[in-house]
Amino acid sequence: MVDTIDFRSDTVSHPTPKMREAMYNAAVGDDVYDEDPTVHALEAESAALCGKEAGLFVSSGTQGNLVSVLVHCGRGDEVILGDKAHTFVYEAGGIAALGGVIPHTVPVHPDGTLALDDIRRAVRGNNIHFPRTKLIALENTQGTVGGMPVSAEYTRAVAEIAREHKLKLHIDGARIFNAAAALGVSAKDLVADADSMTFCLSKGLCAPVGSIIVGDRAFIDEARRVRKILGGGMRQVGVIAAAGLVAIREMIGRIPEDHANARTLAQGLSTIPHIHVDLSRVKTNFVMFDLLDSAPVTPDEFVARLQREHNILMRPYPGFKRTFRAVTHYWITPERIEQTLGAVQELLA
Ligand SMILES: *Cc1c(COP(=O)(O)O)cnc(C)c1O
Repeated sequence: MVDTIDFRSDTVSHPTPKMREAMYNAAVGDDVYDEDPTVHALEAESAALCGKEAGLFVSSGTQGNLVSVLVHCGRGDEVILGDKAHTFVYEAGGIAALGGVIPHTVPVHPDGTLALDDIRRAVRGNNIHFPRTKLIALENTQGTVGGMPVSAEYTRAVAEIAREHKLKLHIDGARIFNAAAALGVSAKDLVADADSMTFCLSKGLCAPVGSIIVGDRAFIDEARRVRKILGGGMRQVGVIAAAGLVAIREMIGRIPEDHANARTLAQGLSTIPHIHVDLSRVKTNFVMFDLLDSAPVTPDEFVARLQREHNILMRPYPGFKRTFRAVTHYWITPERIEQTLGAVQELLA
């Protein structure tokens, strides 16, 4: 059991006991030789789950997005993406540093979407002066605005723009199963119109390592090559793919529990003085809340005392002073939500 109550992200989730057992027992082979049966199973089941022809196991979501962008775009080509997209903000500029791909950003709206007109305007015409637009990239759920799920209808509208201009559509679906659960649809529906999609095994799905890229067979064949270029060809990697298989077989169905726990946390926090939560914005496993100026403790004291006195980890959202992001996941149980609400109440009394 994990002792610390860690709300910093769902990336902190440790593997489940069942995952550790599966890892211990995993059948393996050399995956660069394409001989690892556990990886084969994980890639095939992931592709089927997402309604795509093929899948590729990669080391991280960052690598999945990077590989995808490098397959879709050559040097000097342009990708249209959100100005708060993970790929633009949190992936160390990899698409530009390693691929020479230019990010053309448009504003991310509070509901997680990019305005269709902004996307249309961002598509370059055929002119010798311009970079060539090759790709549109969406994020679902959109993390930086509070884990907002983006609908299949919206995604289809973006895909229509892409098709009209002969562009590809990639989805950074790090938390695509959270989006699907929140919207009451399947992940398949959400990515049906995309040429490629990356999702994380290591967040709400609790696996220790890894992400998956899905797409058509030709795309995945090329992605496998680019992954090798990036040093991402791994050998007896079935030992970690085994945890990924448990993740997609057993952890997707319980994601609504994380969403219910987030809602309980948000509702509880909203009744505590000196805290502000907009309940209408709690759609998935993220709870954004503000510690008001009236609070008897500073944000630093709040963080330090929660940790020291209650073994609870919560942090202000990067770049913010008083806005916190609490993320629920497998190890945040209803009991721990109650415990946390008690601790916050006590600290702010
Ligand atoms: C976590 C995350 C990723 C990938 O992050 P890694 O830490 O590289 O696995 C990509 N996109 C979004 C939206 C994410 O939240």
